[in-house]
Formats: sequence, C-alpha cells, structure tokens
Amino acid sequence: MTFERREAFLVLNAGSSTLKFALYQASDLACLCRATIEGLGAAEPARVSASGELAQAFVSGGAPSSGDHEAALAWTLDALKRSLPDIDIVAAGHRIVHGGQSFAAPARLTPDVLAVLANFSPMAPGHQPHNLAGVHALAKLMPGLPQVGSFDTAFHRTQPRLAQLIPLKRELIDEGLVRYGFHGLSYAYVASVLPRLTERAKGRVVVAHLGSGASLCAMRDLRSQATTMGFTSVDGLMMGTRSGAIDPGLVLHLIEHRGMSVKAVSALLNKESGLLGVSGISNDLRALEYADSPEAEEAMALFAYRTAREIGSMMAAIGGLDVLVFTAGIGEHSAHMRARICDYLAFAGVKLDAAANEAHAPRISAEGAGAEVLVTPTDEEIMIARGVRDVLGG
Ligand code: ADP
Repeated sequence: MTFERREAFLVLNAGSSTLKFALYQASDLACLCRATIEGLGAAEPARVSASGELAQAFVSGGAPSSGDHEAALAWTLDALKRSLPDIDIVAAGHRIVHGGQSFAAPARLTPDVLAVLANFSPMAPGHQPHNLAGVHALAKLMPGLPQVGSFDTAFHRTQPRLAQLIPLKRELIDEGLVRYGFHGLSYAYVASVLPRLTERAKGRVVVAHLGSGASLCAMRDLRSQATTMGFTSVDGLMMGTRSGAIDPGLVLHLIEHRGMSVKAVSALLNKESGLLGVSGISNDLRALEYADSPEAEEAMALFAYRTAREIGSMMAAIGGLDVLVFTAGIGEHSAHMRARICDYLAFAGVKLDAAANEAHAPRISAEGAGAEVLVTPTDEEIMIARGVRDVLGG
C-alpha cells in the first residue's frame, strides 16, 4: 500500500474513562493532531484538550456530552470530518495493553486475533476490555477500515526465560502465569531514540517510566532484559494509586483476617495505595510537592527509596549501569524526585549536575560521572502509528 498526502492514520488509546487519540499523516507519520477526551461515563460533559498542527480546528468542535467509548468515538470522527475535511482516515492503530506470550510485534486486528486478545482481559481488567471496546466501536463506525494493534507487553518478549518466570508450580507456569511486563510502547520509543542521545545506548541501560503508572526496564543492546511489572501492572514500583510489589502473604491476611472481599483488596491495591494511600492527600506528585505535610513527605521518600532499590535489582539483571533514563510525567518533570532517587545511586556511578537537573536538560549527569543520566519525553502514540505503517506496509 502507498499513501497519498493528507491520508491519515487514526491512533487510539482507549482507557476506562479517557479516550486519547492522535492523527498521523500516513506518508511521513507527521503528527497532525493529538487530543484527549476525559471524563467518559461521568455525569458532566467530557473534557477535550488538543495539541498539534490541526488541533485548533479540532477543538473548535466543542466537547462530547458524556457517554461511552462508542459515543466519544462517534463524536471524534464527526468533529474530525467537520473540522479537518481534507483528511482521509485510511487505517487505525490501537494501544492494546496485553498481547500475551504470542504477540511480540504489532498485528492486524482480525476477528480471530480479537478473539484471542479477549482471553487476556482477566489479566488486565482495567485496560484490555476498554482497548478492545475501542476497536469494536471503530469497526462499527468505519466498517472495513484496516485496524492494527500495538501491545504493551510485546517489547518484553525478548526477556530471557528466567526474567519471565515466577517460581510457582510448573503447571501454572505452563498455563501462562508468567511475568509479561508493561509500558512496552514507551520503552520501545525510548530504545528508538536512545542511539541519538548517547554513545552508550547499546550498553547497560535502565529506563525509568515514572508516570501515574510506573515501572523500570533493564535493556542491553536496546532490548528488554528485565522489567518491574510482572503478571499484572500492579507489580514492581510504588505508583500514583497502585501499591507495587507487596508480600503475597499480606493479601492473604487481608482476606482471611480482615474479612476483605476480593473486590475490596483489588480496589485497595489498584486505586487506594501508592502515593495517594501513603500521603492520604493525592496521587499527583505535584500536589504532594506543594503540600506541607509529613505524610506527603513520607510518601515521596518511600517512592524514591523503592524506585532506587528496584534500579539496583535491574542492574543485577544486566551487570551494572551505563545509562539511566527518566521518562513520563514524574520522570520528565520532577527534578526533585529525580534527585531523590539518584541520591541513593552513588554506588552505581550516578552523580547529578544539579543545575542541569533543575533545568530538565536532556543530560543531567555530572561531567565525568560513571553513569550517564538522561531525561527524555516518551511517545507511545508514534509507536502505534509506526505499527500501522509496518503492518500495512507503507
Ligand atoms: P499517564 O500514566 O497518566 O500517562 P503521565 O506520564 O502523564 O501519566 O504522568 C502523570 C503524573 O506525572 C502525574 O500524576 C504527576 O504525579 C506527575 N507529574 C506531571 N507533571 C509533573 C510536575 N511538573 N512535577 C511533578 N510531577 C509531575
């Protein structure tokens, strides 16, 4: 397939209450417009924010009255048609959180593939059903449109077998109870830009994706060797509202001795823990940095401590550290948190240039330090657009 100018790929990332989309020119993958619709399913009208070359034309279309994904998507397609009449959507790409063990690369979303992906919903109940709902909604609204899925788990399929194993009974391992890892689109993007940022890109690299969800990925030769999220995305680091790794015995205790239901434990670990749980104030690091509260301070201290400890664990998997990369909301924007984490890592050759860190410079390590420390934005949407191009052969 070859692509004409202003033919575009629609990239969708459908979450539980948000629909993020971006429009890429098919010929060169230039981003024409990016928008987020928030507050789906709530009583108030949803909110729309947009950026990019054609964003102004798009937001002039107002906002959808609140609704489900299909309603939001119908509104989006309608607004695109009205505000950007010279754009012809020729294919769509979707973020699909779980691709299981078989999907190690983007794939055309045929009915057979969608049936397989639906089997992974129990392992990512907060994401997978919404991702797939976006695919089905678009198929209804634009029948025949080629759709391609890019998977958050795919980048981690290069991990050695030992990094993927959980020491359970053999039959459970064989049934697929293994460590999958997530945030793979973000790590794949960072791996794609890293050779431009450092000569040591192919060495021992740890990437810290610290957003509202947070994880680490240890890479060698720009391929995933280990990661902190495992069978589900609750594992690993402390996050905005997720606990990260905890003693499995604690889960049993909550159920057996505190009479908590499975649903209540799930809500506790996914929605009520992390920065929000420990601070009792907010899941947003910005709010905690401004709060004058010992609990907020303890939450931030714990976030830094646990992240640094896990960086040590990633280093063990790849034999040391040449480059540490910070990305996503906290990684890109919180000089304070980067400094706190790096304070623990002097043993690994990490030393920050304080002024560069405050300025969010691309390189924040001190001259002559043993390990380079970089700050870079991530871009999951462009990876999805590249997936569309690769699968459809543009
Ligand atoms: P998502 O996983 O929702 O895409 P992001 O990568 O955008 O999340 O990260 C969102 C989080 O980043 C916020 O909840 C907040 O904790 C943090 N964050 C964003 N900007 C800043 C900032 N300027 N200072 C501190 N923390 C920030």
